[in-house]
Amino acid sequence: MDDISVTFLDRGTVTADMNFVVDGHAVATASNRSPEHEYAEFVVWNLVVETPEMTILWDTGSHPDAGDGYWPAPLYEAFAHVDADQHALSDDLGAAGYSIADIDAVVMSHLHLDHAGGLYNFAGTDVPIYVHREELPFAYLSAKTDEGSIAYLASDFDHDLNWQVVHGDRYHLTDGVELLHLPGHTPGLLGALIDRPDRPLLVAGDEAYVEANYAGQPMATSLLWNNGSWKASLERCRDIERETGADVLLGHDRSVFEELA
Ligand SMILES: [Zn+2]
Repeated sequence: MDDISVTFLDRGTVTADMNFVVDGHAVATASNRSPEHEYAEFVVWNLVVETPEMTILWDTGSHPDAGDGYWPAPLYEAFAHVDADQHALSDDLGAAGYSIADIDAVVMSHLHLDHAGGLYNFAGTDVPIYVHREELPFAYLSAKTDEGSIAYLASDFDHDLNWQVVHGDRYHLTDGVELLHLPGHTPGLLGALIDRPDRPLLVAGDEAYVEANYAGQPMATSLLWNNGSWKASLERCRDIERETGADVLLGHDRSVFEELA
């Protein structure tokens, strides 16, 4: 197989209480009734995957106006993308030697606001936007009603986009790139197994926000659509890791990201 290359794009930093990310990270106990909260920094990343067939963008990051009122205030208070305004997608792609026009296809791991905020760059184009069948209706339900999750903004994804719906458990996107349905964080979370020449890359993404999640500690309920599905998806990732020896890229863990990038 011809070589596949993966470029890691740092799309900025989100700050949040660790309790959102690791369930029960700091809880009061009889002997320590006021434990210190850990306010931590997390990376937002995207990938550019170059294959012989196509150049793929993995996720699109946050909208550059996230901190300027584009994200609802209560949400930004909980999850602050502090430098989104310095990380427009076209700029970050440009720094890596790419432009929006170089992108042949976009894969959306899911449609949360820290992943779908750059989709507007593809509005009105015929660039295929891959999304899982279980994700798109849940995103609309969430954005347009009081049900679902608050982390979906219709303004991110309700554009004239060339949606390509991914069905099932595993989807062959192109030679060397297999999409994996990893429900749990959201109903339609997509990961991928990318067949790099040196060592495969397993994109677990928000299945595990940080290393502790991949080690088995779930995210808090606000970051978990379904705990049982999440656990099953985690076992699937670990099994693929054992089977392939892949590097595993997690959703927002900066040290894991920097090690691989
Ligand atoms: Zn995320």
